Amino acid sequence: MIVVLFGPPGSGKGTQAKKLWSEKQIHHLSTGDMLRSAIQNGTPLGQAAKSFMDQGSLVPDDVVIDLIAEKTDSGICKDGFVLDGFPRNILQAHALDLMLKKRGRSVDRAVLFEVPDEDLIRRLSGRRTCVSCGAMFHLDHVPSKSASACDQCGKALIQREDDRADVIQKRLAIYHQQTEPLVAFYRQQDKLRSLDARKSPEEVAVALSEALCTGKK
Ligand code: AMP
Repeated sequence: MIVVLFGPPGSGKGTQAKKLWSEKQIHHLSTGDMLRSAIQNGTPLGQAAKSFMDQGSLVPDDVVIDLIAEKTDSGICKDGFVLDGFPRNILQAHALDLMLKKRGRSVDRAVLFEVPDEDLIRRLSGRRTCVSCGAMFHLDHVPSKSASACDQCGKALIQREDDRADVIQKRLAIYHQQTEPLVAFYRQQDKLRSLDARKSPEEVAVALSEALCTGKK
């Protein structure tokens, strides 16, 4: 099954995609994680992407399209995968459809994670991320045992540049302008399902499982 998870930044797509991987072994492809790992490894791709990401802008389409094409062609994705953070606009959605069509495949389902902007601002500004393993914590909802170290690997916890208040506003504006049109795109293809992502991660996981397994909209 090929699944697209989309929604505003901070809506919990990454958490659910990781859960699908750990519980159902459905491979998880996150363009945000791939780009952050390229930055951490100091690759030319990372160096090119960093300034866009720090400012909350989208990285150029050709860069992320190439990243996804390379991964989906690898053997680990042959039984299906979950895309988290891609596509981010209509051009990327068309590129994905074309890329899959050439390989005799297609997106099976696109799931929209709905959360109002006010909740997202609260979620993102309190978020802390491990520099090493990418584990995420929240100052109020999922506090780490130590304010500065990751519970899972002990490395430093930071506030991502793009989780700063001014950058969050910009990311939300870009989401509404560029990513939200995917709602109509996938609705037209009768692949759209949506869920209320304000609920607890456990409740969202149940809703996601229903969205993937049933015809319920
Ligand atoms: P995320 O972790 O998905 O919130 O992504 C973090 C940042 O990575 C975004 O704000 C963009 O700068 C960049 N990024 C991730 N995915 C894409 C994409 N599909 N297209 C363009 N930029 C992306």
